[in-house]
Amino acid sequence: MDGFSKYYKKTWQERLDILVKQNKITLSQRQMLESLAVNQEIGDIQIENFITQYQIPEGLAMNYVINGKEYIVPMVTEEPSVIAASSHGAGIIKRSGGLKAKIHSRLMMGQVVLENVDDAKILVNQLQTQISTLIEVANQAHPSIVKRGGGAREIEFRILAPDMVSVDLFVDVQEAMGANILNTMLEAVAAKISEQYHRDILMSILSNYATKCLVTATCEIPIDILGKNGIDGKNVAQKFAQASRLAQLDPYRAATHNKGIMNGVDAVVIASGNDWRAVEASCHAYASKDGQYRGLSSWEIQADKLVGKITLPLPVGAVGGSIGIVPLAKLNKQLLTFENAKELETIIASVGLAQNFAALYALVTEGIQKGHMRLQLKSLAKSIGANEQEITRVINELEKIGKRDSNSAQAILEKIRG
Ligand code: NDP
Repeated sequence: MDGFSKYYKKTWQERLDILVKQNKITLSQRQMLESLAVNQEIGDIQIENFITQYQIPEGLAMNYVINGKEYIVPMVTEEPSVIAASSHGAGIIKRSGGLKAKIHSRLMMGQVVLENVDDAKILVNQLQTQISTLIEVANQAHPSIVKRGGGAREIEFRILAPDMVSVDLFVDVQEAMGANILNTMLEAVAAKISEQYHRDILMSILSNYATKCLVTATCEIPIDILGKNGIDGKNVAQKFAQASRLAQLDPYRAATHNKGIMNGVDAVVIASGNDWRAVEASCHAYASKDGQYRGLSSWEIQADKLVGKITLPLPVGAVGGSIGIVPLAKLNKQLLTFENAKELETIIASVGLAQNFAALYALVTEGIQKGHMRLQLKSLAKSIGANEQEITRVINELEKIGKRDSNSAQAILEKIRG
């Protein structure tokens, strides 16, 4: 589009002016974009062609006790029921002794992919003798991470096809998520392989399938406190176990089961300033680790307890990316009171499990809509233009007549306004 030529070279004000000039927005909408931009300087640093800051609500989930420590958890989400469900689930788990979480390992992985290989096995054998050299090359490419106590740790090889080999580099990235650290190291390793073995490099890039960055969260809930809606605790626990089994058997259910987990995971990941696409990619890939897409959590009855467990790959950092730039990410770090990236991982996995508990508890007892209903109705009332005072009245009337569609809401609002 002509008027947008070299848009990225314009100042922020010029970019907004162009939108008006090109009849994309009105003058009052320009004002809206301007007033929503809470920090133009940061926006311009973060992305190209910045016009404003999009806003998603942030709230606090309560009742989290993880490894004996209490947390209030900042969550960024636009979905009405997520924080309420999270606090509710965490509250029941808190009464049962809280969550426990442990880190298995924290190494990020990246790959140098070699193509046009006609002797894959021979090449891998040759490269195997060079592991310590390649690790040294990787560390020399990013010496500061070595000074911080991290650095390249392992190299593995995979023959992906007769003509394609992946050289997998595993790196201790300390407090960072490590994408840039990995990418720098991988390009150095690729250059070395290309120079020494004259091989064709297809690409060198971090992998988001973080299988050596795993954390497990667990909880144990006494079965006798689970009774609800006339269903006794034992029955509820059995339904939990069946729901868990269903998510292992059926990818259609597993996708929704995991989406509910990610409702909590993403909300904390975003609040912490981390890259939620990286975490999404990692968790969903991990859900397919044995070839079929499955639920990421499990629930089983052990004696008089319902035992929940989740293992997630969580490539998150406590420094780097947006974390040091966005003031709210810093404030959220202070609210969450975590010491390091490993502790942040334990919190995120725990939130995922509590979120899953809350969703399944509703599903196997009263159904998901009842708990969601009032919050969804609030959004519905707002969407048809009800003001603060009118929202409660519209919700009450909708509940009374058992409707939840916009036509009914509109009719009620009109009646209220006379
Ligand atoms: P950064 O490069 O922003 O930050 C990492 C740097 O922080 C380190 O290199 C180090 O630099 C510094 N640092 C300061 N203190 C520490 C510490 N205690 N431990 C470790 N490092 C420390 O980010 P990352 O490399 O973590 O990459 C994350 C970013 O990359 C995210 O924004 C992500 O969105 C993006 N990204 C993601 C990709 C993907 O997921 N596929 C691909 C490409 C980018 P120094 O030692 O020099 O001070």
